[in-house]
This record gives sequence, C-alpha cells and structure tokens, in this order.
Amino acid sequence: MTSAPLLPDDAPAPFILHPATTDVPFILVCDHAGKRIPQGLGDLGVSAADRTRHIAWDIGIAGVARRLHAALGATLIEQVYSRLVIDCNRAPGHATSIPRESDQTVINGNHHLSDDERRQREREIFRPYHDCIAQQLATIDPQKCAMISLHSFTPVWQGQSRAWDAGVLFHKDAASADIMHQLLVERGGWVVGKNEPYRMTATSDYTIPYHAETRGMPYLEIEIRQDLIADEAGQENWAAILTQLLPIYWRRWTASAPTQRAYV
Ligand SMILES: [Zn+2]
Repeated sequence: MTSAPLLPDDAPAPFILHPATTDVPFILVCDHAGKRIPQGLGDLGVSAADRTRHIAWDIGIAGVARRLHAALGATLIEQVYSRLVIDCNRAPGHATSIPRESDQTVINGNHHLSDDERRQREREIFRPYHDCIAQQLATIDPQKCAMISLHSFTPVWQGQSRAWDAGVLFHKDAASADIMHQLLVERGGWVVGKNEPYRMTATSDYTIPYHAETRGMPYLEIEIRQDLIADEAGQENWAAILTQLLPIYWRRWTASAPTQRAYV
C-alpha cells in the first residue's frame, strides 16, 4: 500500500532557500530553524506548550539567521519542519534522528513507527533540505567559502542551568573554531564554550561532517543561548555581532598558514 504524502502539494516546502545577494564567502545553514509538523502527523502526541519548547526547534535562531542573510547577502538554507519530526542534524537511523523522548518529554507519535514511516520522513523532509545544501555547494569552490551552521541552546537542560552565552562547536576544523572563539570573547567578554554545551562528532552530528568535512571546507558551528535571542532585539543584536565578526574570522582564516588551516 502506498501511503499518502507527508507533504501534499499545498504543504509548506521542507526548506527555505534565501539566495545570495552578493559574492560573500559564506553559506549559512539552519538545521533547526522551524517547528512545523506535517498535518498528517497531528501533534505527534506532544502538548502545544511542548511543541514550542526548545525540544521542537532552536528558539530565536531563524530571526538571527535571516537578519544575517540580509546583512551579509550570504545564501541561507533553513529547515522548516520540527526536529521532532526528523532531526536534520542527525544521520538517518541515529537513535535521536526521530526522537522518542527529549528533555523529559515523551514524543508519543514517534513510538511504534514502521520502516516505511521513517523512510517517508527522511525522503520528504530530511533529504530535500540536504539536497538543497549540496546543490548550493556544487556551485562554489569549497576552499573559498565557509559553511556557517547556526544553532541555539536551551539555558536549562534537564534541570541544570548552563553558564555559556554562546558556543563554538567543531570536529576537525579546530582552526576556524579557535578564531571565532577568540573573536567572541574579545568582542563581548562572554562565556563562550569550545565544543560546549555540545561536542560535535562525526556520528552525533550530520550537516557539518557530511557537507563541509567531506569537502575539506572551513566551517563554524555557532550556538547561542536561547534567552539571548528570544525576542527581536536579541536577534538584531546577535545578527549585528556576527555580521561584524564573520568577515574578520574569514580574513584571519585566509591569512593563516595553509598547514594550520588544513584539517583533512
Ligand atoms: Zn540546533
């Protein structure tokens, strides 16, 4: 039996592509920008309050990403559907790709899924987003452009407060992370984590290892604490900070010795 499409023709597309308006050496990606749930999946068995919590999306980051796109003119690709449907920063099949539980909330609609139902989410939501990123990368020289992956993190995780204002995450590209870490600390005196509050790995993460690291492409994964960007003023502020710092990062990265920045 062929199941009905998860995203019929009148449903919002699984990603939004904001094309570049200038020739800048950045491509912005936002895996957890949206919190939509396809109509056919109902509410996934999750309360309305939980569907707007950090477990469903990266609160505030779409507002930062869109402003950054507008200010820098860089391509931005943002995911539209909730990470509770399928997490676009996890390899399909990973234990948290379609989470059964997140930060003490049970996702009932993700229990007892058939292989077909899993594959449908991958085919209709996960894959088109990543195909869009791949298509954009096919048009550029990956050595002359950095991928900037934007995320936000909850100030409280499983009852524990987090001290960081922001974090820079990396797996292989330590050189880029070092530069941006230093810039953020100098710029605002913030508490900035390096691979905190999360550590990037080749298996727990997907977007950067899959698209950037396989191409030897420089990258930054930036995490901002959600209460700092929950409102428009905060989003303006952090977009302005990154608009200022990203070109400095790029100048320093390109000026560094090739042996220092090659990570393959
Ligand atoms: Zn995220």
